[in-house]
Amino acid sequence: MSSAAPRGATRHGITRAELAGLLAGEPRYRVDQVWQGLYEQLRVPEEMTSLPKALRQRLDEVLPPALAEEVRRVSDGGDTVKYLWRLDDGNRIETVLMLYPDRVTACVSSQAGCAMGCGFCATGQAGFQRHLTSGEIVEQVVRAAREARDMGRRLANVVFMGMGEPLANEANVWAAVERIHGDLGLSARHLTVSTIGIVPGIRALAARPLPVNLAVSLHAANDEDRSRLIPMNRRYPLAELMRACADYLAVKGRRISFEWALIEGVNDRDRDADELARLCRRFRVPAHVNLIPLNPTPGWPTTGSSPARVREFRQLLEDRGVNATVRRNRGTDIDAACGQLAAGQPVAVTARRSGREDLESLDESATRTLAVGPDHGRPDGGGQGSR
Ligand code: SAH
Ligand code: SF4
Repeated sequence: MSSAAPRGATRHGITRAELAGLLAGEPRYRVDQVWQGLYEQLRVPEEMTSLPKALRQRLDEVLPPALAEEVRRVSDGGDTVKYLWRLDDGNRIETVLMLYPDRVTACVSSQAGCAMGCGFCATGQAGFQRHLTSGEIVEQVVRAAREARDMGRRLANVVFMGMGEPLANEANVWAAVERIHGDLGLSARHLTVSTIGIVPGIRALAARPLPVNLAVSLHAANDEDRSRLIPMNRRYPLAELMRACADYLAVKGRRISFEWALIEGVNDRDRDADELARLCRRFRVPAHVNLIPLNPTPGWPTTGSSPARVREFRQLLEDRGVNATVRRNRGTDIDAACGQLAAGQPVAVTARRSGREDLESLDESATRTLAVGPDHGRPDGGGQGSR
């Protein structure tokens, strides 16, 4: 191996052409071997036993991982795994792996923190640190896929619903989507980008070639209420947002989903269901609404709707011709839904080491508390909405 790695290169951030440069002087088939090792076999360099040992060691050094595991929690009887990763600059981000009977989904972060300032959201409360690189995004998926594989499952779905606003980091998110689709082999139809409603981002996404799913975090169907919950609504009000959704639908032919976190007395009233149904009709967006009760966060003294009201609200929507599904707040017992891990909540960690034994031996009632590093209490954001 002769050339140097690009500055700051990480194992899943490097392009294939950069890898070829790095492997100049090696037999040409090495590029394929390493690439397949990374994306088909989900291996780290030291596991790529078809390579000479010296080359493996060199690759390990020049292409370090982007993510260091700081906390790993398992809940739902082993069906939800939440990771808190430390980045090389000390920022922390979250990933959640969710194993359902019929599918396996990874919920990934797109930024460290978020600049959108939604008051109900743990990430929004903590503010923005920086965009994630495509390598940092892809590595979250690879590490989750590896864990799923070790559990005898195959990761097939990725949702950009962790920390951050993906469409505020559209270029890196798109580079990650291409890698996840082209190299990890996930179908674009199984990739979902969730946005608070950044209209130019939706339009940029519509111009991209792959038909990824769009989820819009609506939460209110009139501008007054929505602007109160979501500051960005002032910049991109509902009419503009809905037009962008209608155009996305027209271009991609993909169903759009609306996320709706139910807050007692705020957006779970009968009139909220009326407004939402009217909005969908007016813009001819046959959306699917995902309902979850709002998760409590430290900086937002409001409670989520009761399970009974969530069911009623769903029925109100259905009666008005709007499809709606009640989502479980996956992993609430490990804070998977709200970013409290990274936001510096008391950390009672159920599992930290990697490997299956954590999943099998986990006993929720025997939660162990582990230190997670010297400054784990620093509020540097949190992901949410993982379900
Ligand atoms: N920034 C993007 C993606 C990350 S947030 C977005 O907002 O869509 C993922 C989802 O979690 C969004 O639907 C968001 O509104 C929701 N969310 C944020 N805080 C929440 C909370 N406290 N309870 C329930 N859902 C929440
Ligand atoms: Fe950012 Fe989404 Fe949280 Fe709003 S809800 S602050 S856009 S992560």
